[in-house]
Amino acid sequence: MPIDKTFRDSWKKIGQHNGHSVWQSETDNSRRIHGDIVGVDFHLCYGCEKCITACPTNVFVTFTDERNRLVVDPLNGSECILCLVCEIVCPVEAISIEREGGSEDTLESLLQGSE
Ligand code: SF4
Ligand code: SF4
Repeated sequence: MPIDKTFRDSWKKIGQHNGHSVWQSETDNSRRIHGDIVGVDFHLCYGCEKCITACPTNVFVTFTDERNRLVVDPLNGSECILCLVCEIVCPVEAISIEREGGSEDTLESLLQGSE
């Protein structure tokens, strides 16, 4: 299951970490998402670092979470230019970029190879 893209509206904000929000699922209190503009689901991420390699503005850094798993933290989320490359390269769809209206449809079109 990919990251819940509604997390900014439907998950509970439980704190701050390195300047961004930490969110907890309302249905599973062991699940966390870190970030605001750039959200990473720590339950899904397995630290492959593809997003680190792909991101042109160095938003992501490696991080060991509270379960002692290697993940990536969107430390420099304010530097995001909304290119959406990280969402495309992530093998487990652990990343969600906050977008303006219409860009979601644009991404879906690109992924499907159509206008
Ligand atoms: S959308 Fe682009 S700039 Fe923003 S975090 Fe992802 S790869 Fe980096
Ligand atoms: S590409 Fe996805 S799974 Fe790999 S480190 Fe980034 S968020 Fe985690």
